[in-house]
Amino acid sequence: MLEGFHRPTTPREAAQMKERLGSVAFYLGGGTELNSREQWPPPRHLIDLAGLGAGAMEFREEAWFLGSGCTLQAVLESAGAPGFLRVGCGQQVNRNLRNASTLGGRIAGRRVDSGVVPALVAADALLEVVFPDGHREMGIQQYRESDRRGLILKIRVPKDASRRIALRKVARSCNDLPTVVAAVGLTREGDRVGGVVAAVLGFGLGLTRLGELESCLEGRRLASDEEILRLAVSGVEPASDFRGSSDYKRFLVGELVRQCLHAAFEGKGRVAA
Ligand SMILES: Cc1cc2nc3c(=O)[nH]c(=O)nc-3n(C[C@H](O)[C@H](O)[C@H](O)COP(=O)(O)OP(=O)(O)OC[C@H]3O[C@@H](n4cnc5c(N)ncnc54)[C@H](O)[C@@H]3O)c2cc1C
Repeated sequence: MLEGFHRPTTPREAAQMKERLGSVAFYLGGGTELNSREQWPPPRHLIDLAGLGAGAMEFREEAWFLGSGCTLQAVLESAGAPGFLRVGCGQQVNRNLRNASTLGGRIAGRRVDSGVVPALVAADALLEVVFPDGHREMGIQQYRESDRRGLILKIRVPKDASRRIALRKVARSCNDLPTVVAAVGLTREGDRVGGVVAAVLGFGLGLTRLGELESCLEGRRLASDEEILRLAVSGVEPASDFRGSSDYKRFLVGELVRQCLHAAFEGKGRVAA
């Protein structure tokens, strides 16, 4: 049962409240996950982030700064927001949910089902995270793996005109949650690739970085399709479920990553800037 609904007016105050109230308190973004029946444990305290002014987007020369309170629909509709991120936001069906879901909730939430998070990982995005003792910058994976989760205030997406990002997803229907989503970011120099970041996400997969593929491609010509398919699934062992067997999901990981790599290499992906 809900015991308290709190309305902090500054990020520091919100972080201090969370520290004081402990694990029964949750930051409230759009509430689509927190208010669902799947939320466990049910929140006893909600810390509403609406008063923090975190819903703004700033487009600067060197980077995009996206407030964690931006809804996915606002990003999708913003002509100035990064193209690949707009595509990722559009992958969350439906519009009603996108109107409520926030970037902060998407990143911090447990659901693993849209291109927003892998796209931001592929773009080398950094989070500005608020703790009671100050602000820290960290990567998305680092944040999701940490035990002590702070308040996500902003997402900083570097603008690099030479960086290309491509996203692909497979779902059983247009309204279904994706079985696998893949995102690849890279820089092309002539016929060589650099700064390769490949991330996949899906049921039974979680958010997975494809480290072997990334390091093997670094500074090289794009590998053959056969090699890409082998490297992409190296060490990837998705769990089987009603969406597909482990083998089928491994096949999807390889194929979607292969398509992303080619799209980004050819500049057909959604470029970062
Ligand atoms: C019926 C239903 C259908 C759904 N369908 C889809 C779908 O098709 N695709 C999809 O991708 N997702 C789907 N979701 C999941 C949900 O919409 C997403 O996870 C959503 O992006 C969460 O955002 P939110 O702002 O609503 O988060 P909230 O519910 O407010 O919060 C989610 C979690 O993130 C934490 N949090 C929120 N904001 C911050 C912050 N700024 N800093 C730190 N922590 C924070 C909260 O404490 C909570 O633990 C669905 C959910 C429901 C209920």
